[in-house]
Amino acid sequence: MQADVAVLGGGIVGSSVAYFLLKEAPGLSVCVVEPDPNYELASTVRASGGCRVQFTCTENIEMSKFGIAFIRDFGSTMATPDGPAHADWIEGGYLFIVPPAQLAGLERNVRRQLAHGCVVELLTPAELKARFPSMKTTDLGGGAYTPHDGWCDPNGLLQGFRRKAGELGARYVDDRVESAEVDATKVKAITLASGRRIEADAFVNACGAWAGVVAGKFGMKLPVSPMRRFEHYFTAGAPLEALPYVKDVARLAFHSEGRGFSGGLVDGSEPRGFNFEVDHGWFERMVWPAVAERFPAFEAAKCHRTWSGLYEQNELDGNPVIGPWANGARNLHTVAGFSGHGMMHAPAAARGIAELIVHGGYRTLDLTRLGYERIVAGRPYAEEGIL
Ligand SMILES: Cc1cc2nc3c(=O)[nH]c(=O)nc-3n(C[C@H](O)[C@H](O)[C@H](O)COP(=O)(O)OP(=O)(O)OC[C@H]3O[C@@H](n4cnc5c(N)ncnc54)[C@H](O)[C@@H]3O)c2cc1C
Repeated sequence: MQADVAVLGGGIVGSSVAYFLLKEAPGLSVCVVEPDPNYELASTVRASGGCRVQFTCTENIEMSKFGIAFIRDFGSTMATPDGPAHADWIEGGYLFIVPPAQLAGLERNVRRQLAHGCVVELLTPAELKARFPSMKTTDLGGGAYTPHDGWCDPNGLLQGFRRKAGELGARYVDDRVESAEVDATKVKAITLASGRRIEADAFVNACGAWAGVVAGKFGMKLPVSPMRRFEHYFTAGAPLEALPYVKDVARLAFHSEGRGFSGGLVDGSEPRGFNFEVDHGWFERMVWPAVAERFPAFEAAKCHRTWSGLYEQNELDGNPVIGPWANGARNLHTVAGFSGHGMMHAPAAARGIAELIVHGGYRTLDLTRLGYERIVAGRPYAEEGIL
């Protein structure tokens, strides 16, 4: 089989890449290799759906701005003759809350977001209390509220991208990348589990939590590891006012979902590995005390479901790797390592890599600083503050 571009992995990142390649260059021959068409283990369908501009790196703020605008219009942009797409965008806002010791850092971050044209309000504990009366604020230094952030349905987003990419001509191949033919400057072909071989001019590794393993098949070192994270659906004991997506410095994060809430508490020290086992005591031990401390109404919270998913953790700095294999075969591109932010950043990262492949350079947002060069140099480029 022959293609102009072979995309490896057909989750939200791979499917966005296929779509933007075909937007940039209609008629390009694009195939997407995805072994799990039902996405049973893919991170995308296990995600919590949050999209926010509250970052500190220029690239992340700008990728969020583009991603949020894109997702807001997703239904019509991604419509096909079968009908509109369904991302179910909810502009519920995001709220980062910090203790007094971290207020100065939050204020600095907010100034950066404001400089990028984002709408961000810094709220004192008294203002937080007035706006969100159910929240305990006495121990807080303040909060940053971004009213135009929100959350969406990750599966709806993925299916919309996949369907539209297919309409524009992308071919999905239900198979797994097993090995690659690589010389010093070029990847020539990949071989799939079925024995099929695909030759292409360019290859894109969009394998999420599997991206490090897949890079290894090309002889490329990519410090992206699978890191398990639990997500829970829970209800409160008593009705609460409408809440935004709340995040704190201990990495507690949750948002309303239907009649309840979806969220969890990220443990960055979780052992790395492809582990999907669910710890049904995690909510009771870790999440419930944290939400109940912040919102006393959650004293009577009930957890209805817990599931696990994998973060694609970039062990160098927690930011994605986007771009060519700088010191190897340059026609192998990586779009992976989003470390838990890949759903919201998929559209902008995919647009960027499509520009690189089709035009030879970034045309909209410059993502050079997120390139593989920093991995080679061992030079982290990290977020500051709440992750
Ligand atoms: C609990 C949880 C909550 C999250 N919440 C958010 C959030 O609120 N906002 C946000 O932006 N992000 C969130 N994320 C992160 C987000 O889910 C990921 O960053 C994003 O889904 C990554 O997309 P992907 O397409 O790279 O990965 P995936 O969706 O995992 O897709 C990768 C694909 O590669 C395929 N693959 C594997 N091996 C091979 C191979 N050898 N050959 C070919 N294909 C292969 C897999 O089958 C898979 O379908 C969350 C993640 C988790 C686990």
